[in-house]
Amino acid sequence: MHLLKDEFRHQGLRRKLVEELRTKGIRNEQVLQAIGRVPRHQFIDDSAFLELAYADKAFPIGCEQTISQPYTVAFQTELLGVGKGTKVLEIGTGSGFQTAVLLELGAKVYSIERQRPLYLRTKERLALMGYRPSLTYGDGYKGLPLEAPFDRVLVTCGAPFVPPDLLGQLKPGGRMVIPVGEGDVQRMLCIDRNADGTFEQRDLGAFRFVPMLGDKAK
Ligand code: SAH
Repeated sequence: MHLLKDEFRHQGLRRKLVEELRTKGIRNEQVLQAIGRVPRHQFIDDSAFLELAYADKAFPIGCEQTISQPYTVAFQTELLGVGKGTKVLEIGTGSGFQTAVLLELGAKVYSIERQRPLYLRTKERLALMGYRPSLTYGDGYKGLPLEAPFDRVLVTCGAPFVPPDLLGQLKPGGRMVIPVGEGDVQRMLCIDRNADGTFEQRDLGAFRFVPMLGDKAK
């Protein structure tokens, strides 16, 4: 079974990927090291494509979804700013790769996925790999009111607008990173919630994500 193997070859490819991310502008050493520890090839089911696991590219994972490009994962993670014990809500579990990177940084991760087959497969995979996030099959627009508030909210699909429920579940002093825009291209927004409850927003440029969908998959 290829799933749990991590050979020299993979480790070498991973070191190269980390160097590539560094040259593309990722500066945070903790983030780079976390990506260097996650065996990305174990998140790709079709063993015919294992060689591509460490290319800086998005990759199909079924249900018309993709595992995000490593640069995008690194960029969002760096912007989010997490450390030991940071309570993070992730929208769009997908393959679980981003979830694993957050866990490597010591975060306590709650992640929501709306496609049941992906939720089930990723739950099994992350458990096999020894990762312990809290995974929920549900609608990311609603967040997790019973677990709120969160230090950080990370949206990994392109949202047509900033979901109000997610803003409401952010702690004062907290931060949300979310790609917003309809169509193919989104703007990466970083939204800080001030201690007085007001919000401040920055635009970090254009990115491409699969869309955040409202109704459940058929
Ligand atoms: N973080 C993932 C990225 C997966 S792509 C990774 O590292 O692999 C985005 C994911 O968001 C897809 O799996 C998609 O099914 C999911 N998604 C789309 N709309 C959603 C919603 N409303 N709630 C939760 N997840 C959603």
